[in-house]
Amino acid sequence: MEREKPEIVHGLASQTKKGEDFTLLKTDCQRTMGDGVTTFSVFGLFDGHNGSAAAIYTKENLLNNVLKAIPTDLNTDERVAALPRALVAGFVKTDKDFQEKEKISGTTVTLVIIEGWVITVASVGDSRCIFDSADGGIYLSADHRLECNEEERERITASGGDIGRLNAGAGTEIGPLRCWPGGLCLSRSIGDRDVGEFIVPVPYVKQIKMSSAGGRMIISSDGVWDALSAEAALDCCRGMPPDAAAAQIVKEALQADGLRDDTTCIVIDILPQEKPAAPPTPPKKIIKRMLMSLFRKKSSESSSHSDKKYKEPDEVEELFEEGSAMLSKRLDTKYPVCNMFQLFICAICQLELKPGEGISVHADSSSCQWDGPFLCSSCQLKKEAMEGKTPLEGHGALCPFTANNPDESILPVQRSVLKCV
Ligand SMILES: [Zn+2]
Repeated sequence: MEREKPEIVHGLASQTKKGEDFTLLKTDCQRTMGDGVTTFSVFGLFDGHNGSAAAIYTKENLLNNVLKAIPTDLNTDERVAALPRALVAGFVKTDKDFQEKEKISGTTVTLVIIEGWVITVASVGDSRCIFDSADGGIYLSADHRLECNEEERERITASGGDIGRLNAGAGTEIGPLRCWPGGLCLSRSIGDRDVGEFIVPVPYVKQIKMSSAGGRMIISSDGVWDALSAEAALDCCRGMPPDAAAAQIVKEALQADGLRDDTTCIVIDILPQEKPAAPPTPPKKIIKRMLMSLFRKKSSESSSHSDKKYKEPDEVEELFEEGSAMLSKRLDTKYPVCNMFQLFICAICQLELKPGEGISVHADSSSCQWDGPFLCSSCQLKKEAMEGKTPLEGHGALCPFTANNPDESILPVQRSVLKCV
């Protein structure tokens, strides 16, 4: 028996310095799906850098690109399972399309989709998202700052990027770790063609099912998190409605650090329908778990049938978490491919593929070259470039993705014949 959908109330506060923060607030979106009309809410935060073009483009196009990557004939459970992969496809398509238009500017992205009691968050960059409930506080986003992510530093170095601090002269290095050329502090973003293809748009995705108590979500740009810890942000606005809470968080951040950057905060309360007026007031025990960014994972034993009726059923449940930058891992699926995703469509741009045209997403590994999902040749080039396998002249001085330059000779991989199993 499915619980009644929660009520979603949100508030927004922002203080501008550069004018490069943009938000997307959409409640009650409707879409006709396999099992009828579905209603969902979408919240996005886009913190642009080196100009605002990438942030604006992403705000206007990302959600559509994600929704187009979800097959329409799925039921609710299948749709929830398909969303992480659709988010990866939508992020990569948006990045690819934007880079064909603009050479410079980039943006962080935190995109939240709430459908029923399931929250799915996809993120690149350092705008963070936290969720606080009676079960504890957790991060729903990753931090893609080079400074605090060794795995990402290794990936970028292996793909041909240089990482180091700003040289202040006389052998003195200052500031955070940056990627050169360009000097970006982030390892993932949408845009940033001038920095290099190894700054990838592949999002960290986390999906949870809330308990019936609901909870509070905070999405903020780095202007907030540079000044406030997650606990401080939650504590300073407890009991306040979302709009007042967002304003309070921005105020506290500015009091601590001054207005050094665009500072934006979205607060979203997800409340059970029974008590719409009461904001969640979780106990203080959450703090330690928040710091560890860990989730209480259910053991495989506890999900067995015999145990089920003795188990407390009403707690936050982690459905999905994956942050790999490798598309061969992120576009694969455990679900039957022929049912879930159409084989004759590019897994990234959703372009129709003619027989023999698709290239397996596994084409550069030693096995599984005949397996889907498949990419069009243009998206395959994008994938190879992101993995540092296709040297692009002068870091994006040449765009291989336009119709004017269909240079097949730079395609480094063997083509696989498209075949439906
Ligand atoms: Zn494609």
